[in-house]
Amino acid sequence: MILRAVRGRCDHPSADDICDDIKKQDGRISRATVYRNLGVLCESGEIARVKVPAADRFDLRCDRHYHFFCTCCGRVFDAPAGYLEELDRWVEANSGFSVSRHRTVFEGICPECSAKKAAGAD
Ligand SMILES: [Zn+2]
Ligand SMILES: [Zn+2]
Repeated sequence: MILRAVRGRCDHPSADDICDDIKKQDGRISRATVYRNLGVLCESGEIARVKVPAADRFDLRCDRHYHFFCTCCGRVFDAPAGYLEELDRWVEANSGFSVSRHRTVFEGICPECSAKKAAGAD
């Protein structure tokens, strides 16, 4: 049910967003249960956890990709940029660390917020 709630959304929901969705379907499920199960799903690789400046978000895409965090509305988007495998190899070549991946979150203003700002400025 929790997995379905995450998959039913494509906007990188926070744990609280998922709680709200689930409570609409079944009011008896506690927040703690939802949080615990989200952790389990992340560990089993069914969903991915995205670290952003606000609360953690959950992602149904588990492949390596970058994110964009809007500092205005707080929404998280998939960034339209390919994963740079070269960066991992570069760090490995220069350090002796074994790199499995890197995570990148771009920050700025999303098109919707930009449009709102422009409209408000008129
Ligand atoms: Zn925004
Ligand atoms: Zn994503």
